[in-house]
This record gives sequence, C-alpha cells and structure tokens, in this order.
Amino acid sequence: ARYDIAALKARLGGIRSEDNPALVKQKSRDFFWYSPVLKRKLDHVTADIIVLPTSEAEVLEVLTAAHALGIPVTPRGTGTGNYGQAMPLSGGVLLDLSGFNKVKAIAPGRYVAEPGAIMARIDDETRRHSRQELRLHPSTYQTASIGGFIAGGSGGVGSIKWGGLRDWGNIIALKVATMEASPRILELSGEDLHKVAHAYGTNGIITEVEMPLAPAYDWVDVILGFGSLRAATEFANELGEQDGLALKNLAVVAAPAPHDYFLRHRKFLPRDSHLVIVMAADFAVDSLLAYAKRFRGAALLMRSDTLFPEEAKGLPPAYELGWNHTTLRALRVDPAITYLQVLYPFPNQVELVEAIHARFGDEVLCHLEFVRFDGKITCFGLPLVRFTTEERLEEIMAIHEAMGAPIFNPHRYTLEEGGMKQTDEAQLAFKRQADPQGLLNPGKMIAWEDPAYDYASGKTFLFRSLSEAG
Ligand code: FAD
Repeated sequence: ARYDIAALKARLGGIRSEDNPALVKQKSRDFFWYSPVLKRKLDHVTADIIVLPTSEAEVLEVLTAAHALGIPVTPRGTGTGNYGQAMPLSGGVLLDLSGFNKVKAIAPGRYVAEPGAIMARIDDETRRHSRQELRLHPSTYQTASIGGFIAGGSGGVGSIKWGGLRDWGNIIALKVATMEASPRILELSGEDLHKVAHAYGTNGIITEVEMPLAPAYDWVDVILGFGSLRAATEFANELGEQDGLALKNLAVVAAPAPHDYFLRHRKFLPRDSHLVIVMAADFAVDSLLAYAKRFRGAALLMRSDTLFPEEAKGLPPAYELGWNHTTLRALRVDPAITYLQVLYPFPNQVELVEAIHARFGDEVLCHLEFVRFDGKITCFGLPLVRFTTEERLEEIMAIHEAMGAPIFNPHRYTLEEGGMKQTDEAQLAFKRQADPQGLLNPGKMIAWEDPAYDYASGKTFLFRSLSEAG
C-alpha cells in the first residue's frame, strides 16, 4: 500500500470514515466524464479512504494525522465539479465536507456558513429569515456546496447582475485550515481572498465562508423564441443592459438544440426557434415582454412556482436549462456531445458569436450565458461540440482563440491549463506557506509540481502519479 491507512484510522478517534473500495471509488469522482479527454485519463482514479469531519476541530484533527503520516488530502464538497477537481490523483484521504454544513449567522446583506452547506439550503434559510438570497449560484445549486463553489466554481445564475466569484465583493471573508504539523486557521479577506478562491483546495481547506446576500424576489422564467441566432443574441445583449428589469439569468441557445435536448419543454419549443431564456423578477415581466416585442421575440413559455403553478409542474426551472445543465441535457440525448468554455470579449461579442457560428455550423452549437464581466455586459459560451477526435477538439479550440475568443479549457485537470495558462503567483506563494509538504489535492497546480513547465510548449501537463498508474 502507498500509505499507512491503518495508522491513520487509529488516529481518527470518533471521526467517521469509510474505506470500502467501491464506495471510496464512487466518491472519488466528479463530473469529469463530460470531457472525453478527462474520461480517458482519470477514470481509474480513487482515494484510499473517505473521512467525514463535521466540525472545524475534526478537520484539524484529520489534517494533523494525515500530515504526520505523509498522506495526501483532497477536499470534496459534493463532487459536482467538471474537471476532476475533487479527484484524488495521488490517492490518500478524500476529505468529504458534506456533513460540515451549518448556516451559522444571517444578517442584512450577508451570511456565515460552514463549507459543506448546500447552496439551495442556504437560500431556503436566508429567504425564510429575511427575504434575502445568494447573489450567485451555479446551476447545480440544488446539490452543490458553497465551499466547493468558492474553491472550484466561477459564477452562474446571478452573474448577469453581479459578475463572477472573482469580482470584488462577491466573497466577504473565508477561514482556511493549513496543512502543517500543527494546522492553523487563517482568516482571509480583501486581497487575500484571491489566494484560495478557485484554487481547487490545493493550498488550504475552507472551514467557514462569509458571503453577501441580495433581495429575494419571486423569479419568473420567460422563454422567448427568435427567427435567427443573430436576432436572439442582439436582443439578449441589449436586454442585459436593462438594469431596471432585475434579471437573474440570461441565456441563448441556438436551434435546434432546445427542441432536440430539452425534452420536457419540447412541446413548447418549435425546432427552428433560437431561444433567449430569462429569469426576471415578477414585477418586471410585463416590461420585459413589451421590450421583447420590439425585437420580434415570441413568448413561448412562462414558468413560475407562484404565478403559474400549473405550468410549472413537471418543468425544471430555467436555470436548469442553462450553464452546464444545457450540456447535461444534450449529453443525455446524444452521448457524443461535449463542450467548451469560451469568452466572447466586450465589445465585439455579438459579431464574434456570429462569425464563430458561421465557421463551425452544427459541429459547434451555440450556447451563451450573458454576464457582467469587469462591469461590461458580454457573454460566455458553453457551446455544444459534436465530438469526433481529441485532435479535432484541440483544433476547434485553437480556431476560437485565433478568432479572438479565449478558451477556458474544460478538458484539463490543472488550474493553469483550465484557466489563464500561467502561474498564479498569489496561489503558489500561499501554498508554500499553507501546505509546505504539497499534500493538498496533489497534481492540480502545475506551478507547484513542475516550476519549469512551459505553457507555450503546447504539451499537456502529465502529473507523475497519473503517468505511474499508466
Ligand atoms: P466539488 O466538486 O466537491 O469541489 C470543487 C473543488 O473545490 C475541488 O477542487 C475540491 O477539492 C475543492 N473543495 C471543495 N470543498 C472545499 C473546501 N471546503 N475547501 C477547499 N477546497 C474545497 N460551476 C459554476 O461555477 N457555475 C455553474 O453554473 C455550474 N454549472 C454546472 C452544471 C452542471 C450540470 C455540473 C455538473 C457542474 C456545474 N458547475 C458549475 C460546476 C460545479 O457544480 C460547481 O462549481 C459547484 O459549486 C461545485 O461545488 P461542489 O460542492 O460539487 O464542489
């Protein structure tokens, strides 16, 4: 065996753990299989043991024991990430934080919670407490944890108003446990948040989050149909700038994807309709419909738990047609579909979308999420790609970049290759302090594993533990 798991168990005292290999393997996975590339590379990955702390004191005990025995620790919220982020590439401990999940305080504009809290549950509590809700959540909000969102996510529902997690003010403060002989709890705010936000848990375990809240309106899903992708994109872009309409999400999905893949909505969606899918506050719906008329948008469907409870029955909410739920719905119908993550930079986003759509046709089906990016309205794409070969996938990405649309590659498990393709000095420096032995989520930060790695080489990084496993 690679590690002395028996010695670890002896030190865990009353903290729950699980080492049944089938159960451990099941929890060692996330939604990495959306990528055929990651599916090929990571399918065999498994931890040696799952440990389930339910308090900060228990997290510190597990880290102390694992550090003493030199056993790697990979944190996990609920494992809904898409890039193998929570997959333990070197085995060892999978630190399941889903039971460390209380909402500790709610106040005007903010709340404090433990990292394993499910976002929809937090929302239930803040709504009940004072009609407040999360500013941002991923489309997986019914199942994903707030700690996992901060460590592994980027934005989602709410980003049309608030931008992403990377934007100033969208995280207030974090408590983070270090991986040392005597682990410390550090309190981070302001500039320091960048050290651990979106670091995949490679340089600390988040043990408490303080996050901002927004007023909780009654949201209505409005699905509009347009005769061309250009018309849908232009409308969405203009709509995004209408701050008075109080939008929560704004997506475009090109025909025929909605009709072909949104099976429960199919009867409402003509096959040649390009959709704009909106979440708007109930008081804004009349104005939204009037505005859409000016752009020849046809209202195809409205859904609301409060206004139209009958129609809402059996139909998933609009946010579960967006973000990576669009991909999920397509994958369920056609397993050969995969996806990309594309930024269409302001101010040429509408033309760029059109040009890329014309370039690829049906091989790359357009799916856009409008967001506020550095204060400007623009769009991210999560286009649906008809996968043929890994070489072609690389070529499609290269063409996007050559046309001026940067790719955040969802077919890589490292921070750098999935992100800015360069070392994040703040995250690296923090790892030197907080995890000097390199035991936290090994293999995900290239800057730590291979400081000489050349991002311009065009070569995919291969983590040593994975190459040994073959
Ligand atoms: P996990 O997958 O368990 O973990 C994510 C990362 O965080 C891992 O690297 C893990 O090691 C680390 N981590 C977890 N907890 C901690 C902790 N306490 N301390 C330190 N590190 C930790 N993401 C978006 O941003 N926006 C979206 O709209 C979105 N839509 C999605 C739709 C679908 C259908 C799917 C499958 C995924 C989507 N995702 C999206 C990705 C993912 O669901 C979210 O980012 C989610 O918030 C992750 O939470 P989790 O609890 O599942 O995290």
